[in-house]
Amino acid sequence: MTLNKHIATHVRDIPRSGIRDFFEIVQSMKDVISLGIGEPDFHTPWRIREAAIYSLERGHTGYTSNLGLPKLREGIAGYVAKNFGIQYDPKTEIIVTVGVSEAIDLALRALVNPGDEVLYHEPCYVSYSPSVVLAHGKPVAVPTLAADNFRLTAQELAKKITPQSKVLMMNFPCNPTGATQSLEELGKIAKLCEQHDLVVLTDEIYSELTYDGAEHTSIASLPGMRDRCVFLHGFSKAFAMTGFRIGYACAPPILTEAMMKVHQYAILCANTMAQDAAIEALESGANDVAAMRKQYEARRNFIVTSLNDMGLPCFRPHGAFYVFPDIRGTGLSSREFSLRLLETKQVACVPGPAFGPGGEGHIRCSYATGLDQIKVAMKRMAEFVAEVRK
Ligand code: PLP
Repeated sequence: MTLNKHIATHVRDIPRSGIRDFFEIVQSMKDVISLGIGEPDFHTPWRIREAAIYSLERGHTGYTSNLGLPKLREGIAGYVAKNFGIQYDPKTEIIVTVGVSEAIDLALRALVNPGDEVLYHEPCYVSYSPSVVLAHGKPVAVPTLAADNFRLTAQELAKKITPQSKVLMMNFPCNPTGATQSLEELGKIAKLCEQHDLVVLTDEIYSELTYDGAEHTSIASLPGMRDRCVFLHGFSKAFAMTGFRIGYACAPPILTEAMMKVHQYAILCANTMAQDAAIEALESGANDVAAMRKQYEARRNFIVTSLNDMGLPCFRPHGAFYVFPDIRGTGLSSREFSLRLLETKQVACVPGPAFGPGGEGHIRCSYATGLDQIKVAMKRMAEFVAEVRK
């Protein structure tokens, strides 16, 4: 029996993630320094892990409300109000999800009719375009450019808006570029969204990780925007809790109710012990987040200087834990560069096109790796670049 013809066409046609392909090669090799991983190298702070252990000990092993534990939703409402200046009602406007990944999927499935266009800036997180396709929407990429430090401009966005446009997905600080938005540009984008009646999914997963004293502003906090935004956030990055799989979506009640319908039939509820741990993260995790941010900032400073010194132009990103240097001067494609660097120097980076065609000519280096390792990786990469240029 050939099962291939039974696979739904829109699923069959989605390409596998470029990151996954690349990391299958990495896993088959020894002694590789990986700058390819998009998750914190820190362990989850101990008190948060302990809260998960206590949760089990106390027998918290049943389902929770579909929307998530009331105490967690109240904590999230307080956190979002304090850190982002946006008020959400924990009873009707917050849903706890299995990571931001599920929150993205829920929002898209709740909003998109077949053929609706969903705009997103590109290069972007690997899941954006496939998630739109899985929701039967049409992905529409808005290019962001190295010359603009990969900021989304209202001008480029306007060029891609059509009568079929329904949703804009945004992620700043951005994976893979580290880009952040200026308040002025964010205001222009908000205005466009109002003019064209777009719903905005704002993925805030890196918002705690901003540097140089830069203040992060969510588009959902701009005047008039709260009611057309789905605010997506989670615990994976700032609290180093990727494996706990806890995220959340905040939105007006009609949208939360629609997302809840998808969530209750597909997932039921997020993991109970992980929800208990997330409560602890909100209550006591702020100092740990600040300590990790300090280390990321020191690593960013080192990696940006090193890349520029070796002749790979790279702007100084103010957020997330990625840099996206320009490797075109070596004459290699992103894939050739990454493969040869891996084979000859045992350093792994992700080829830029894994984040969309606009990533060609770049590689993504994550600095969610210890500074000692980063130093060795940069030395090896500098040798590699010098050898290629000979
Ligand atoms: N959004 C962005 C921009 C990401 O980079 C990631 C993970 O790398 C996710 C969402 C998924 O995060 P979660 O672990 O909360 O599902």
